[in-house]
Amino acid sequence: MQDQFGRGIEYLRISVTDRCNFRCQYCMPLEGLPWLPKDEILRYEEIVAIVQQLAPLGLRRLRITGGEPTIRPALATLVGMLRAVDGIEDIALSTNGVKLPAMAEELAAAGLDRVNISADSLRPDRVAAIARRSLDFDLVRAATAAQDAGLGPIKINVVVMRGINDDEIADFAALTVDHPWHVRFIELMPVGELRDLTWEHVVPSAEVLDRVRALGALAPDAGPARGNGPAVYHRLPGAAGTIGVITPMTHTYCAQCNRVRLTADGRLRTCLFGDHEVALRDALRRGEPLAPLFTKALAEKPKEHALLQMQVGGLRALSQVGG
Ligand code: SAM
Ligand code: SF4
Repeated sequence: MQDQFGRGIEYLRISVTDRCNFRCQYCMPLEGLPWLPKDEILRYEEIVAIVQQLAPLGLRRLRITGGEPTIRPALATLVGMLRAVDGIEDIALSTNGVKLPAMAEELAAAGLDRVNISADSLRPDRVAAIARRSLDFDLVRAATAAQDAGLGPIKINVVVMRGINDDEIADFAALTVDHPWHVRFIELMPVGELRDLTWEHVVPSAEVLDRVRALGALAPDAGPARGNGPAVYHRLPGAAGTIGVITPMTHTYCAQCNRVRLTADGRLRTCLFGDHEVALRDALRRGEPLAPLFTKALAEKPKEHALLQMQVGGLRALSQVGG
């Protein structure tokens, strides 16, 4: 599978729900969003049918995301069904980690390979302020549960916001000294309806790395062996894990983009931003072949996103597009 610019597409991010148990300031309004009705959401069998049609075309890696994927009932059943598809080599999960201590073992047993955990603070009061729900989330507990279940290499995603959590950059980086965890600092993207967050809250990754250097010299690093995406990695002296930066706001990595996304209601999106998507669900439900729709979607995959030119609030929240 190649797009019009010759980029090989082997990675699909699957959103299994648009709903979430958190309300992160940068992602979802407190009152929630207009949720998709249940019958518009792909059933697990339908998700698997799409993956089965994409695998022979070169799809190799999957990520289950949302919304918050762990709140969809029987998620381990989907993992097991995807694991059985020929050609799929790697299945990862993106989660806010709240339910990981309870679910990690079951997900690993079903065939999940690894997890990314989103965490924007190590302080309980601040987690509650940023996620606007107190669900007793504790990053170290969640990451340890995932690690004990064999769901590594464990990546931890931190959205850095000036004046909100940027004073914890060094604390997050310090976790990588003793733990084999890969902490990735993400530049805040002004998408969705960020009523209280603006460009002033964006901390460029170059500044993040400067602040990490207070802990020690940073050496460039290849990063975790599996699932390399847009992050660029470094390592503190003698550290067990690495520190990555993801720079949607200050650099574009679109030339290496190897991914497409499936929304919870069955649209194939070829770029996180913009309106490049092709609806698959109704054709699938009518029993029509999907290959012509895949071809159309890839022919329209844009060369790069235009995030920097867009206005605050002019884009859909990441929870709606399977961020
Ligand atoms: N609920 C899961 C989670 O939080 O990991 C999966 C979905 S969430 C939309 C995926 C990732 O998008 C998270 O790491 C989250 O921090 C990130 N994200 C959401 N909105 C963002 C924004 N405005 N800027 C930067 N990252 C964002
Ligand atoms: Fe939920 Fe993830 Fe969005 Fe936070 S970032 S509101 S956890 S979907």
